[in-house]
Amino acid sequence: VKADGGSYDAVVIGGGPAGASTAIVLAGYGHDVLVLERERFPRFHIGESLLPAGWELWDRLGVTESLEGAGFRVKQGINFRLFGAPEDLVFLTAEFPDYFQRPYTYHVERARFDAILLDRARAAGAEVRQGWTVDDVCFHAGGRATVVASPAGAPPRSIQARAVIDASGRDCVVSRKLGWRKLDPQLNRVAHFAHFAGAPLHEPPDLGLGPLFAGATMTDVHTVDDGWLWYIPLRGDTVSVGAVLDARGQGVSMRPQERFDDAVGRCPVIREWLRSARQVMSVQTISSISYLSDRFVGDGFVLVGDASMFVDPIFSAGVTLALRGGIMAGETIHEGLLEDDLSEARLRAYEERIRPPMERIFRMIYNWYAILERKDRDNVFARARTAPLLRERMIVLFSGGYDRADLDALLAADGP
Ligand SMILES: Cc1cc2nc3c(=O)[nH]c(=O)nc-3n(C[C@H](O)[C@H](O)[C@H](O)COP(=O)(O)OP(=O)(O)OC[C@H]3O[C@@H](n4cnc5c(N)ncnc54)[C@H](O)[C@@H]3O)c2cc1C
Repeated sequence: VKADGGSYDAVVIGGGPAGASTAIVLAGYGHDVLVLERERFPRFHIGESLLPAGWELWDRLGVTESLEGAGFRVKQGINFRLFGAPEDLVFLTAEFPDYFQRPYTYHVERARFDAILLDRARAAGAEVRQGWTVDDVCFHAGGRATVVASPAGAPPRSIQARAVIDASGRDCVVSRKLGWRKLDPQLNRVAHFAHFAGAPLHEPPDLGLGPLFAGATMTDVHTVDDGWLWYIPLRGDTVSVGAVLDARGQGVSMRPQERFDDAVGRCPVIREWLRSARQVMSVQTISSISYLSDRFVGDGFVLVGDASMFVDPIFSAGVTLALRGGIMAGETIHEGLLEDDLSEARLRAYEERIRPPMERIFRMIYNWYAILERKDRDNVFARARTAPLLRERMIVLFSGGYDRADLDALLAADGP
């Protein structure tokens, strides 16, 4: 290992939303930041439905203007079709506009979204090395660390860091090394997904419950026997379609394309929308979707975004939580660098801020699968049609306002 990789205040593993946002914050405070990203951007990534709670995070990161100018598809809310019921259950952020800066968000091609964030990290002063893979991290007494990373095809280098931010997404470089990453057997799901061209939009209906934007869409969620499907219109006539299915059950012996086609075939509405559409990428698969790290911080390091946990994509929370976590981690590490204290005790402030919203989402997701299991038509989503307070809490949840409404009350209403 060559020892000439340099020395930095902070080394960030991964340049996705979590890593880029941590880097933007730290570089913005004038710290020496290095981002090591294995891929060369733009690169495909799943996770395309964002949340209205993102606007204030985008402002903090200085990317609002770039995102507005990128031509992403406007998303106004979410629509559920549960258990073959004939009617839509539509929830629009515009019904309760006071909770959020703007009552809409975007559906994004992550390749472009993530590139905007990483470019911003570079503009803020971070050094960004793409095509660099982190192979290992060695933590030393006193908190400093050595990051071992290699540029494509070249021998590894060692890089010195006062703080390490693991933002490596599902690779979970640090939590796997430390044995902290635990799969959740109760949420044992597999996702198969692809993009299609020539597919229709599903525009929000005019419920008389707030303004509608021309060309806006929703995230559609439709259930099938062994799980659920998403339908997310992107730019032009491209849509993202995915199936999140039980990882046990009868379909497991099928090949991914076969199982995906089978799930679409069992979902009449999405099957019809895709009837004359053309699949433009091969089906991708992610298994063991859900996991949680025992801890999010240690002496000299933090875990951010999917490197700390991922539960399930049903509430489209991943990217928004990754940005939020990145900002919080950046703020906490900045304070630690100023005080020359990056001990676990000092960094725990970050974990204490980010865990509560994650735990609420966790519980909501257990409830979602309990509803699916019971095929319960009298579920919290259906009841929210006619119960205004429940509806309000629901919409705040679907819009990402995890600390803005009484979600504990919602959880109580949602319980089995
Ligand atoms: C099926 C599915 C559907 C989803 N749908 C949504 C959705 O609709 N909306 C939403 O908000 N979220 C969704 N998510 C979640 C979303 O994809 C993630 O939460 C989000 O990408 C997390 O961002 P991140 O920066 O933590 O990780 P990532 O975006 O995964 O970024 C990690 C980066 O680290 C790099 N990296 C990894 N290992 C190394 C290494 N050793 N060295 C250097 N670099 C490395 C990777 O190349 C990558 O660029 C979905 C997830 C799944 C599984």
